[in-house]
Amino acid sequence: MKCANCAHVMTKSLTRHHYKECGLNNVYLDGVVMWKCRACDESELEIQDNEVLHQVIAKAIAEKKSRLKPEEIRFLRVHLGFSGVDFAKTISVKLETVSRWENDPEHEMNLSNEKFLRMLVLAKMKPFTDYETLQNVTKKSPKSTARMNFATTKTGWESRAA
Ligand SMILES: [Zn+2]
Repeated sequence: MKCANCAHVMTKSLTRHHYKECGLNNVYLDGVVMWKCRACDESELEIQDNEVLHQVIAKAIAEKKSRLKPEEIRFLRVHLGFSGVDFAKTISVKLETVSRWENDPEHEMNLSNEKFLRMLVLAKMKPFTDYETLQNVTKKSPKSTARMNFATTKTGWESRAA
């Protein structure tokens, strides 16, 4: 790979990346390819199998034991392919309501809606059978968001213990 800035040959290394670009602040990726140019210091990140990665992240969020944070609700909604407007219409709430769920930590999505959202994500991959995980979701909101790690393996992206 050649540097887009100065056309020098870039060197490749594997790195850990804080994946803020996905809209979540607590997602870290291991084994991401980093291209660096020694001549001009330009660097470029290469995230492999992006679609699979998002599937794995969405599953990890949908299976979380604690309540979803606003940015996680947005991540799942976008992952399912809904615009805010379509999502609001589909579940018969106002667009402002969806906007509050996704932006205002004080304005919690009710637990039934939240679980339906999780079920949609989990059912998108296969017929839904994982009842126990969702039955264990707690009613309380967490004070902080636990870090989530993902890593590339021979078979693709996997969720890893932090
Ligand atoms: Zn360069």
